[in-house]
Amino acid sequence: MGEFAFSRSNLPKQLIINNEYVESRNSKKLTVHNPKDGSVVADDVPLAGEQDVDEAVAAAEKAFPAWKKTPPALRRNMIMKFADLIEKHGKELAELTRITLGAPYGSFGAFENQLCAETLRYNAGWCDKFGGESYPQEDGFLKIVRYEPLGVTAGIIPWNAPIGNVGLKAGPALATGNCFILKPSEKTPFAGLALLPLIKEAGFPPGVFQVLTGDGSTGALLASHMRIRKVSFTGSIPTGKRIQEMASKSNLKRVTLELGGKSPAVVFDDCNLDNAVTWCVNAITGHSGQVCFAASRVYVQEGVYDKFIEKYKTMFAERTKAVGDPDNESTILGPLADDSQFDRVSGFINRANEQKSGTMIIGGSRIGEKGYYIQPTIFTDVAIDSEIHTQEIFGPVAVVRTFKTEEEVMKISNDTEFGLMAGVFTQDINRGLRVASEFESGMVGVNCMSMMFNQAPFGGNKQSGVGRESGIAALKAFTDAKCSSGFERGGGAGGLDDYLMVSTREADGDFHLGFVT
Ligand code: NAD
Repeated sequence: MGEFAFSRSNLPKQLIINNEYVESRNSKKLTVHNPKDGSVVADDVPLAGEQDVDEAVAAAEKAFPAWKKTPPALRRNMIMKFADLIEKHGKELAELTRITLGAPYGSFGAFENQLCAETLRYNAGWCDKFGGESYPQEDGFLKIVRYEPLGVTAGIIPWNAPIGNVGLKAGPALATGNCFILKPSEKTPFAGLALLPLIKEAGFPPGVFQVLTGDGSTGALLASHMRIRKVSFTGSIPTGKRIQEMASKSNLKRVTLELGGKSPAVVFDDCNLDNAVTWCVNAITGHSGQVCFAASRVYVQEGVYDKFIEKYKTMFAERTKAVGDPDNESTILGPLADDSQFDRVSGFINRANEQKSGTMIIGGSRIGEKGYYIQPTIFTDVAIDSEIHTQEIFGPVAVVRTFKTEEEVMKISNDTEFGLMAGVFTQDINRGLRVASEFESGMVGVNCMSMMFNQAPFGGNKQSGVGRESGIAALKAFTDAKCSSGFERGGGAGGLDDYLMVSTREADGDFHLGFVT
């Protein structure tokens, strides 16, 4: 397979192992649907089984020694080229995603493509700058710290950003000299499977970058594999916990977990109201609310509450008009990703109404008769212990409460097991910074919300995650630090291997632990 020639009428349906398209050895297949009308897109997508996983791991292990020693500038060039190719084929990749995810190109596909390309470039730039440390020998020992790649690594990713996650996971894995196996979500397999021509054109050697589609069973094979040294996972909290358990029960592989959220936006009386409303609306309706760091809880101070709600509701009504066929260029919001997502989101809405958990002031209904379209929905006056207030819905459903004092709102904001994102809207810089430091979350926006940056760590506190993506944190998380120390008064014929580890007390009374011949 040379040229990139995939489209909705020519779907990629083979695994990528050792720079070849190969048939899965597992007879089970995945079925995927188009959420805009529920039609079957394909019922013969490979579901990688044990043999497929073992073959990919063996190919990666074989590739690793040479890949690890590839000069950083060459690795950089390959990752840069791959980024260019992702950009060049962005529209085709977005279409391959859209037909099973339902996200419009203009409001999501283009963004996701750019996220992937820019994240790859950011990480590529580190290849020849990712240094170590050294500590001087005042105590008699020179210490050299290097950050070494782990070997075979895997990325298990969700359906809501199938190409964006390639940048976030393959970028730092490959830049630091690891081999990488991507496991796309069973709901969005095609963009990942389409990557082989780009992987080859970028120049990655066989076994360095492979793609295995499958469901949770494939993910479990990777997470429990004895020869995989790291899994970087993005998805739900229950799956993240299973992955950490499998990692510890197998080979203690390193695990990074990017999990769910129920992120609070706190709007104070003195905010710039239009700014606050715009961010709060965009950060829950964007991508039909299927975003981990969506502004799903909104707390508004009582002095500005009525004005806020009026504008917030008006903007939700505008967004509702922008829901439509994702293949139509003017559409901003598509359907939810599939029937189970639809049932999940509408289940939360229906139960909230039945149990009178809050007042539904807009939305709540299905749009149209086919496909999984839902109206953006607001509940006000939500009960503090209701499930719509405490659980991640992962759809365009916001819950709103009013508050009197900063103390009160910080307590409510932090009274949760989630800790991914938070936002504060105020014109008081002191309060903005104080509240930002008090939020128990991995990320905070001041007069903005739900942003991510290549340079800065991305991830969650508490049960929203373990570890961080983006920035140098992501690169370090794909390495282990190694400390080599040398004894300055050593000598003899050999290197450090010829020394024994002993502790000594020098004539000056100093205590030394180190290598002597
Ligand atoms: P999910 O946990 O159901 O699936 C994620 C991935 O894990 C898929 O590839 C799936 O096949 C795989 N998987 C499922 N069971 C597995 C198992 N037992 N072992 C190994 N792998 C398994 O999540 P989802 O529904 O695809 O995504 C939605 C969730 O992802 C939401 O909770 C959302 O908040 C979260 N998310 C988090 C971030 C973040 O960066 N923090 C970003 C996007 C999405």
